[in-house]
Amino acid sequence: MSNERLYRTDTIILRRADFGEADRLLTVFTPERGKLRLLAKGVRKTTSRKAGHVELFMLTDMLVAQGRTWDIISQAEIVEAYRDLREDLEKTSHAYYLAELIDRFTEEHDPNAPLFQLLTLTLAHLSHSDDPFLALRYFELHLLSLTGFQPQLHFCVTCGEALEPVTNFFHFVDGGALCPRHGEARPNAEPLPLPVLKVLRYMQTEPWEKVAKLQISPATRQQVESLLFNYLTFLLERRLKSVEFLRQLKREGVKRDT
Ligand SMILES: [Zn+2]
Repeated sequence: MSNERLYRTDTIILRRADFGEADRLLTVFTPERGKLRLLAKGVRKTTSRKAGHVELFMLTDMLVAQGRTWDIISQAEIVEAYRDLREDLEKTSHAYYLAELIDRFTEEHDPNAPLFQLLTLTLAHLSHSDDPFLALRYFELHLLSLTGFQPQLHFCVTCGEALEPVTNFFHFVDGGALCPRHGEARPNAEPLPLPVLKVLRYMQTEPWEKVAKLQISPATRQQVESLLFNYLTFLLERRLKSVEFLRQLKREGVKRDT
């Protein structure tokens, strides 16, 4: 035990799966070590003292022992339980959504402290508020920025001109806005109404305290929500396709070699 290598970290539990007879394998997000998979031994036993400290979406301070296959949770202490997120069904579904996005947009062992901070802040906002709209959209937009997909919302991605206060366009492949001249000519560019552009820009550049006070019409809310959702979906599908393509190359490469 004396040369066992230990580390301490804050974690948010993104996912968990039963493992073996009484264990669970947790997917957690941490500030300094990024996403990790950790083994929680014995937590499905009714006598486990750790069990209550390793629930989904909790902020937990963990002491972890490095293992050969999985690192193993040695101690776990709740820092913030966000109890509402597990007791209110709608809040639970939103917390799952955040956890899923973090899981899909990050790789293991790739530290991203600002993204960890964004996640904990958003979990707190969701747990305290009954209107999740602003917190969720703010999260989506800043997740994109912090993972290298920040949409360009100030200049046309084709000509580089500053966008005029008119209906512009947005293109998923280009990752940003297009002026009317280039948007109309670009197949599959989506119209970007001015109120939607303004809300997105405000959320991208202003601090949360100001964003939290935004008043937005139902129609604009709907458009902002679907644009962000469709952009996130596009990025994930493109990534899945590239992963599938790599696998295919590997399979074919193997075939050629043998
Ligand atoms: Zn242009």
